[in-house]
Amino acid sequence: MAQLSPRMQELLQPHLTGIEPYDPNFTPTPINLSANENTYPLPGAARDAISAALSVVPFNRYPDPMSNNLRDELARWHGVSRDAICVGNGGDELLYNFMLAFGGEGRTLLTFPPDFSEYAFFASLTGAEVKRVWRDSETFEIDADAAVQAAATSNLVILTSPNNPTGNLADLGLVERICDACPGLVMVDEAYGEFAPADASAVPLLATHDNLVILKTLSKAFGAAGIRCGYVLAPADVIEVFAAVRQIYSVNVLTQAVARAAVGAREAYAPVVEQIKAERTRLADALRAPAAPLADDSAAPALEAPVSVTVWPSEGNFVLVRVLPDASAVRRRLRDEYGILVRDFSYAPGLENCLRITVGTPSENDAVIAALAELTGEGR
Ligand code: PMP
Repeated sequence: MAQLSPRMQELLQPHLTGIEPYDPNFTPTPINLSANENTYPLPGAARDAISAALSVVPFNRYPDPMSNNLRDELARWHGVSRDAICVGNGGDELLYNFMLAFGGEGRTLLTFPPDFSEYAFFASLTGAEVKRVWRDSETFEIDADAAVQAAATSNLVILTSPNNPTGNLADLGLVERICDACPGLVMVDEAYGEFAPADASAVPLLATHDNLVILKTLSKAFGAAGIRCGYVLAPADVIEVFAAVRQIYSVNVLTQAVARAAVGAREAYAPVVEQIKAERTRLADALRAPAAPLADDSAAPALEAPVSVTVWPSEGNFVLVRVLPDASAVRRRLRDEYGILVRDFSYAPGLENCLRITVGTPSENDAVIAALAELTGEGR
């Protein structure tokens, strides 16, 4: 991580002196399964709709600040009204705006780590304090009573479902209890929601809980991480605040056009999502299966033995695996010898020796399965 210069340490706002520039640890590789992107080709109907929309974008004009055409399409999809939606430059911008508007000095955000590291980062940017109720170290489930108790004395809560990087869902009964207990706003981050069963979504709870905010993104199921488009669903008065604090033109005309066409063609994405879910099962099962020992004439140097692999169940488009004794070494060798990039979480508390592998196309997953069988087979 880059260090801030002594001059910057002095000039920065005091609460920011601990910040470090974000490092996605990216190296170009033939197979990139490190960022939970959707690596499948765009469905034909979506590609046609997007091409047609892009060909008529008036890019000499500033964008519609509130992306109203897109909001209307999203409103039709989710069965809510336009004023229950705010669009942002990726989910990240909306997470930041959530903290900007409702966090800050003297406020507390409750999170359930291991989870998405940006929550704590954005909280710290605004000076908000982060309160953590750690997930169970084996199952990554949340202790419901501890969560509800902590929510009662927090200004904000973020609950991720499915959770990144552990893959598990938030129980809807717990979401309701947390909404009832928390005096402030409760965000359920459903960035990966399309890969989970439809009845796991907290969207229906919007009708009965006026402090609930749901975050969604087009970066995952819609395979559109590059356009930067996310949105929140929330009560109208909450959306008014999101609208008031946002950078006016943060969602550009090209993004609005592509997103509207993609959401309009949403049915075309269903087979891709189903295939990713099926591949997730295939990948997890294959990684769980004991690897055959390598033939004696293998040229590859042996890993420190023994190697054991634990794979957690996942409802997202990724799987979390613990590779003992040295996941970082396995990640390096996957990258350098097999051209496969996955995310190493070894540095993160609670995720020692854990790698997160995005579910790719069948051939990408075959490559991961074969490479890991070879690497871990060496140590068995
Ligand atoms: N929430 C979670 C849990 C995520 O993993 C991500 C992206 N990795 C986001 C939100 C934000 O996604 P984006 O900014 O691409 O919409």
